[in-house]
Amino acid sequence: MNHSVSKKDVLQVCTGDITRLAVDAIVNAANISLLGGGGVDGAIHRAAGPKLLALTRTMGGCPTGEARITPGFDLPARWIIHTVGPVWQGGSQGEAQLLHKAYASSLELALQHGIHSIAFPAISTGAYGYPFAEAAKIAVQTGKEYAPELEAIIYCCYREQDATLYRQLIRDICE
Ligand code: ADP
Repeated sequence: MNHSVSKKDVLQVCTGDITRLAVDAIVNAANISLLGGGGVDGAIHRAAGPKLLALTRTMGGCPTGEARITPGFDLPARWIIHTVGPVWQGGSQGEAQLLHKAYASSLELALQHGIHSIAFPAISTGAYGYPFAEAAKIAVQTGKEYAPELEAIIYCCYREQDATLYRQLIRDICE
């Protein structure tokens, strides 16, 4: 742990395909079955190879807000942390608390496994319909809570405009 590194330096942003990142762990925006799906979940299962599904079939799923860990198999990342974000239902069904819990559960699991670098996709902002800016704010606020205990928390954005928003939020929340 290096306390001379500011929270802002730990929180990083990149653009592109999360499956290409050579970090200790990438996070999967999974669904409660853990059996794969569309979006980033499908991309991770394709890139990790069939051993991933063979393992997740035995895991009994994952409730919303919790997280589970598997090896990365064929990925450059050593681990995959699978978490389940909430489906957006208008904002009054505890979505913000559940999204915070999904990020926090993932980061707790990372610490338990000695993970130093972790990359997150924008959980719940695709098929699950969470408004992007609100979700990104929760992602950065939760990352800030854990930043002193990690070397890199990377927000991997699919679109350049999403990355711009994350960079602004990191400046606003961490300064
Ligand atoms: P959810 O079901 O949690 O909403 P999705 O996979 O539908 O998950 O979308 C979550 C986010 O992941 C979206 O912002 C989407 O643009 C992004 N995304 C999709 N594929 C990838 C990928 N290969 N790498 C990084 N981000 C991705």
